[in-house]
Amino acid sequence: MNDIHGHCVCGAVEIIIREYGNFVYTCHCDNCRRMNSGPVLSVDPGPKENVVFARGEEKITIYRDEDVERGFCSLCGSTLFWHDPAANHYCMNAELFDEIIQNASFELELFFDMKPSYYAFAGERKRLDRNFTEIGVSAAPPANTEGRDAP
Ligand SMILES: [Zn+2]
Ligand SMILES: [Zn+2]
Repeated sequence: MNDIHGHCVCGAVEIIIREYGNFVYTCHCDNCRRMNSGPVLSVDPGPKENVVFARGEEKITIYRDEDVERGFCSLCGSTLFWHDPAANHYCMNAELFDEIIQNASFELELFFDMKPSYYAFAGERKRLDRNFTEIGVSAAPPANTEGRDAP
């Protein structure tokens, strides 16, 4: 797909992804869940060159979370993106982009070892822990619970 339009709840911010397929992933890390009231569902458009801030860029508030930036709409509070400036890499709230989520392929769960036990997504897909090591689907709940607070 080309020139996929997305917008926040109030419509002040409009973002266009120049080129993308339908890959969607989730992140179960503490900060994503705290900011989004649960695991954020994201798309991975990659470099800045693939992203156009078409409207309302001045309405975006940036929160610096260590080396990355988390952007949200200052009017309605919608989560917009996660951005690593050093790596020139954007990930964005998938739910901004109606065209993508209509036919999304949900293929990856990140920080699976940080997922609380009270929810789970149905179905099987690739799961990575905080060290980006793959967690086998048969290895039921993450075994390494005592390492939860390790750096
Ligand atoms: Zn908004
Ligand atoms: Zn996260």
